[in-house]
Amino acid sequence: MTTVTLQDRISAVRLGLDEAADRAGRDPAAITITAVSKTVDYPVMLEAYELGLRHFGENRIQDTREKLRDPLPADIILHLIGQLQSNKVAHAVQLFHVIESVDRPSLVAELEKQTARLEMTRPVLLQVNVAGEGQKAGCDPGVASAIAQLISRSEHLRLDGLMTMAPLVDDAEDVRFVFHGLRELRDQLQQHLSIGLPVLSMGMTNDYQVAIAEGATHIRVGRAIFG
Ligand SMILES: *Cc1c(COP(=O)(O)O)cnc(C)c1O
Repeated sequence: MTTVTLQDRISAVRLGLDEAADRAGRDPAAITITAVSKTVDYPVMLEAYELGLRHFGENRIQDTREKLRDPLPADIILHLIGQLQSNKVAHAVQLFHVIESVDRPSLVAELEKQTARLEMTRPVLLQVNVAGEGQKAGCDPGVASAIAQLISRSEHLRLDGLMTMAPLVDDAEDVRFVFHGLRELRDQLQQHLSIGLPVLSMGMTNDYQVAIAEGATHIRVGRAIFG
């Protein structure tokens, strides 16, 4: 019996990324893997780091704080991908380099307040609920423009783009409309607000190839990497 190693799983995801990029006529180097490490401990994250991954995603602030007691390698980029409560914002901006789950005006206000107080700036993504029913995280597409404006007027925040989560389905083709919808929304916001929004964080283990076909720049992959 052969065992599948972390290295094997990372290689398989890289291969899957390359194939999807190739089919879409895109440059694979323009697509970043964010390794979603929420289910593993720090030593496994470090192993993935040593295998070349630099972007890591976590969804809970308290768990991440406990897990990362040791200092991180200086070039790790930590993404907060889970829901953020306003009373945790100060911790979040000190722990995470990128906040992907910004989805309401009150959260924008609190993020601006805390980053200003701490004299830092943070790149953020606006999380949009493109899929509708069942999903609770993310703003309604109809209010995305207003929140995007609010972020872009916040001195200590930098709006880099949009993030979405598709519902879990058997056939990833069934959620293509979600990724397509996020890209179209991004294009509209760029036009209407005259801002650049280069980042589209979309696609997970089950559907990242479809997300790449629809323009994902960051795929958030957990199970395919960490099992
Ligand atoms: C857990 C999680 C992922 C990774 O999902 P997998 O199916 O394990 O790849 C991606 N994005 C978010 C927001 C998550 O919570």
